[in-house]
Amino acid sequence: MANKIISTHFSDRELDCNCGCGKTVDPELLTRLEALRRMLGKPLIVTSGARCATHNRKVGGKPASWHLKGLAVDISCNDSKLRCEIIQMAALLGFKGIGIAKTFIHLDLRPADQGRCWLYN
Ligand SMILES: [Zn+2]
Repeated sequence: MANKIISTHFSDRELDCNCGCGKTVDPELLTRLEALRRMLGKPLIVTSGARCATHNRKVGGKPASWHLKGLAVDISCNDSKLRCEIIQMAALLGFKGIGIAKTFIHLDLRPADQGRCWLYN
């Protein structure tokens, strides 16, 4: 697969479905992620962006996962200070779904009336 730069800080390889099917993220997700990266001023390591249905099942994603719509991203994070910064900035930038795990943060662009912030076990 090509590794095309699709915004200032991200390439398609980082955000496309990890199975290699070529499914890509929504442009709005990319715009907000780039804004988050700029606001933070530090690298963001994306572990999962867009997912096709097959790959979503393989990684145990929810059947209605926002990753399927290309509207969600998981960002690697093991540090409490960085976690705090990312969550606060993501909220400012309009991410309405925020999931917090020990090793990553899930951010998605679900509608505001479906806004949720949750913890992964
Ligand atoms: Zn795929």
